[in-house]
Amino acid sequence: SKALRLFSFQTGQLEPLLSRFTEEEDLQMKRMLQRMDVLAKRATESGVRLMVDAEQSYFQPAISRLTLEMQRRFNRDRAVIFNTYQCYLKEAYDNVTVDVELSRREGWHFGTKLVRGAYMEQERNRAAQIGYEDPINPTYEKTNEMYHRCLDYILEEIKHSRKASVMVASHNEDSVKFTLRRMMELGIHPSEKKVSFGQLLGMCDQITFPLGQAGFPVYKYVPYGPVNEVLPYLSRRAQENRGFMKRANRERDLLWSEFKRRLFAGSLFSPNH
Ligand SMILES: Cc1cc2nc3c(=O)[nH]c(=O)nc-3n(C[C@H](O)[C@H](O)[C@H](O)COP(=O)(O)OP(=O)(O)OC[C@H]3O[C@@H](n4cnc5c(N)ncnc54)[C@H](O)[C@@H]3O)c2cc1C
Repeated sequence: SKALRLFSFQTGQLEPLLSRFTEEEDLQMKRMLQRMDVLAKRATESGVRLMVDAEQSYFQPAISRLTLEMQRRFNRDRAVIFNTYQCYLKEAYDNVTVDVELSRREGWHFGTKLVRGAYMEQERNRAAQIGYEDPINPTYEKTNEMYHRCLDYILEEIKHSRKASVMVASHNEDSVKFTLRRMMELGIHPSEKKVSFGQLLGMCDQITFPLGQAGFPVYKYVPYGPVNEVLPYLSRRAQENRGFMKRANRERDLLWSEFKRRLFAGSLFSPNH
């Protein structure tokens, strides 16, 4: 595939990446491309979106490259394929703007799930061990700034082209409020469904439910799979969600006060609470 060519410093030419694979790896790659194709076609036919997760920075260029190819092919009429951008990366804004610019030039619909990023410790440790520059923003505040800067750029793009779409995948109340405020200022209506929100199942229902009730497209991300894969995933979320325990306490307090309210109102078991 033309998508899988790399610049060779020896020959000064673009050379196929596949020639560097063993026969088995070559087959694996082809099978993966076929599966991606099947998934993207099925998503298109079913009228749903397909979100590709972001992983560690040392895999991400390959994931982004393949996702971009899918966006070129499948995002002609609407955003079917969504790529994920991690705003804890120093290069996040550059990545977002380069890809939005490309979508504009080539005429396809840009779709993204915007996250802060889940592998901070791993990234910092690896950079320190191997001795390259830490790819992560130096502070939490810088990551917040980056998140809002990228989000603002995409919201502006939605305002101007009505072609981009974004999922604000975050449990951060300030980011959700920031999005709602900017949507109002830019005249982006929830019913256009260009902006959606996502939280993990079991977390931050106090953000998800009011958004849903107010008519915003909002989703619960449901991790599933073998226990040995899902448990490390969930424990990473718990470790890396800064302020997670604070939020869990807040959720517990909210549930407790609702329980008391229903108890004293005599409607504990009533379906019409
Ligand atoms: C629907 C959904 C889908 C997701 N998909 C992905 C995905 O595909 N790939 C992925 O990597 N993650 C994904 N995540 C996880 C996400 O990246 C965050 O880890 C998680 O949501 C916590 O960030 P927050 O915005 O919710 O809240 P916050 O608690 O406000 O932010 C915590 C995040 O801030 C950043 N941070 C914390 N401390 C520092 C510091 N000292 N310096 C710099 N940055 C710091 C880290 O990214 C940390 O995870 C997803 C989350 C959701 C809700």
